[in-house]
Amino acid sequence: MLMKELREKVIETALRAQSDRLIPLTMGNFSARDRQSGAVCITPSGMEYSRLKPEDIVILGVDGNIIDGIRKPSIETPLHCAVYRRRSDVYGISHTHSVYASAWACCHEAIPIVVAELAALVEKPIECAPYQPMGSLELAETAALRLKNSHALLLANHGVLAVGPDLDTAYANSVVVEEGAKIAYFAKQIGNVKVIPEEECRNLRRIALEKYGQK
Ligand SMILES: [Zn+2]
Repeated sequence: MLMKELREKVIETALRAQSDRLIPLTMGNFSARDRQSGAVCITPSGMEYSRLKPEDIVILGVDGNIIDGIRKPSIETPLHCAVYRRRSDVYGISHTHSVYASAWACCHEAIPIVVAELAALVEKPIECAPYQPMGSLELAETAALRLKNSHALLLANHGVLAVGPDLDTAYANSVVVEEGAKIAYFAKQIGNVKVIPEEECRNLRRIALEKYGQK
C-alpha cells in the first residue's frame, strides 16, 4: 500500500483529537505530507474515525488531484493544499473545532498570549482569519494567506488551523492553542489580563528551542 505509515499516522492523530475532545463526531481534519514524494495523506470526508482503515485515507497532490484512495477526501482539502503550497516548511496540518479557541474565533478576536507554553510557540496573539464558508476555495486562500509564517490561525466562526514540520507537532500545536485559549478565557473572567509582550514571547521561544526536551 502506498504511504501506509503516513496513512496510519493520520488515523492515529484523528483518534487522539477525538479522545482529547478537540473535535466532536467526525468534525475537523488532519493531513501529513510525505517528505520524499510531496504527496499528502488526508482524512476522508464524514467518516467515523474509530472505523478508519489505512485505505480510507486519501492520497493527493498539493494541487488537490487524487493520487490514490477509494474515499472522498475531507471537505477542507483545498485549505490543506493551499497551506502546503504556500509553506514549504509544513508537513503536517491539524484542523480542529476545539471549544475555547473556536469561541475566540466566534468573536473574531485574536487569542492573547498569557501563558508561557503558547508564547513559546507563537510570538504574537493568534490571529483570526476573516469569515469564509467551510470547504470553500475562499476559505483556503484567505487562511493560507493569513497564516503567514505562524504555527496557528483561528478561522472565524469555525475553528483552528495548526501546522508543523510533521503531523505530531501540528497536533501538539492544536493542543497548546486550545490550552492557551482556555486559560486566556478564564483570565479574562477574573479581570485584568496581563499579556506576555512580543519581545518576551521571542525570548520564551528561544528558551524552549534551546532547553526544552531531551537532547
Ligand atoms: Zn472545520
